[in-house]
Amino acid sequence: MTETAALIDRLVEKLGADQVIVGDAIEARYLKDWSGVPEGKPLALLRPKNTADVAAALAICHGFGTPVVPQGGLTGLTGAAVPGAGQVALTLERLNGVEEVDTAAATLTALAGTPIQVVQEAAHAHGFLFALDWGARGSAVVGGGLSTNAGGNRVIRYGMARDHVLGLEVVLADGTVLSMLNKMQKNNSGYDLKHLFIGSEGTLGVITRAVLRLQPQTAAPCTALCAVDGFDAAVKLLRLAQRRLVGAVGAFEAMWPDYYRAATSYGKARAPLGDAPFYVLTDMVTADPLRDGERFEAMLEEAMTLGLVLDATLARSESDTASFWALRDATPEIMSHLAPMLAFDVSIPIGQIGEAVERMRTALDERWPGQEGLYFGHIGDSNLHLIYSLADGSEATAHEAETAVYEIVKDYGGAISAEHGIGTLKRPFLNYSRSEAEIALMRTLKRALDPDGILNPGKVI
Ligand SMILES: Cc1cc2nc3c(=O)[nH]c(=O)nc-3n(C[C@H](O)[C@H](O)[C@H](O)COP(=O)(O)OP(=O)(O)OC[C@H]3O[C@@H](n4cnc5c(N)ncnc54)[C@H](O)[C@@H]3O)c2cc1C
Repeated sequence: MTETAALIDRLVEKLGADQVIVGDAIEARYLKDWSGVPEGKPLALLRPKNTADVAAALAICHGFGTPVVPQGGLTGLTGAAVPGAGQVALTLERLNGVEEVDTAAATLTALAGTPIQVVQEAAHAHGFLFALDWGARGSAVVGGGLSTNAGGNRVIRYGMARDHVLGLEVVLADGTVLSMLNKMQKNNSGYDLKHLFIGSEGTLGVITRAVLRLQPQTAAPCTALCAVDGFDAAVKLLRLAQRRLVGAVGAFEAMWPDYYRAATSYGKARAPLGDAPFYVLTDMVTADPLRDGERFEAMLEEAMTLGLVLDATLARSESDTASFWALRDATPEIMSHLAPMLAFDVSIPIGQIGEAVERMRTALDERWPGQEGLYFGHIGDSNLHLIYSLADGSEATAHEAETAVYEIVKDYGGAISAEHGIGTLKRPFLNYSRSEAEIALMRTLKRALDPDGILNPGKVI
């Protein structure tokens, strides 16, 4: 019997045939994510039903030295959940459900395969807000969101995935279960181990459960789309809004004019404002829209008097709000229109983002005249996105364009990944944002938690 046949036999014996899928019975959707990284052909797809099954599966794979690739909703943009030949894919999709909403602690406990939108709806039904939110909310799940430390639309007010977690249950590479389902905000009893697993893209452990922090429910936010007098004016508008609305700026999304035009043409979003040097979509989190609506409008009037905002339109209905956000959510359509393309997700200190964009534009236009580069992002969080249409679909061109952009990011001490993670796509550039000593410490941690290197090998480091 071959080693592979022995592994499959052992997995079937322990987990049952319904949890171990092999060969052509593995559906194509488990072979890729949204990154465009070529799909892999795993030895098997495991579909455990609970933490004990995950632990058994990992213990067996560990014994055979077989790599395991954890999978959530497969919406990742860096290839981090794509399995390779000779590896086993482990989907958390059957660990799906909200187990508890603790209204006194303001926490929600969910299994790793629960979609983010389901968590949001459960929180809402109990009078709370689960504030982690991004475009792929219907498909992305708790385990995937935490493993990539996802960001999204509300980071400026509520933080990244890491800030929404109080406790975790994790299975280590050898099958050991770590139950750390802490519900308290304060717990300084030694190292806070959960942070090792948040943002480590399935390379240090498999998340099976999470205790998530809930926020007080808010009313529909006050929302405005603003035509702004350039990038520097947008930064001044951000600081003015934060001063006047203290703690209540809920989103601050920037769009350069080329992105705005693409969103309203290929992206099919409505264009509520005409041509402008720069656009900002911002909103104010509130429990009292009538009273706070006045403060929000007064802040915008002040920004207009100061010449920062040239024109603005306020959302008067849910459908207005949805149509403003449609501008920011148009990226999937834009990306398919521009393919072959690259989608960048970088961080640069906010005061230098405007200058960095001009440098990127010049460098890319000089090398590949006529290609489209669309700039936008969560600039309140220093996060810039760029969708760049490639002159051809070759790996060499993609690598050259990535190098050009990341060299500029490096010059500003920026991050090559703001929120999407490293996966395989950005791994060659990790040293642009992390020092040799930092990468060496990452390797030391990896060896300590997964000495045989079976968890998601080849990803991140
Ligand atoms: C339209 C669209 C919009 C997006 N917008 C944003 C955005 O605004 N902000 C943002 O941050 N991201 C965004 N993303 C990227 C993506 O949604 C996130 O990276 C998300 O966190 C991935 O979650 P997932 O469940 O799909 O995970 P997957 O893609 O399945 O996996 C992602 C990583 O997590 C690991 N993993 C999955 N589950 C577990 C687990 N239980 N235990 C350990 N490791 C695990 C995988 O091995 C992989 O490394 C967007 C994606 C799309 C398609």
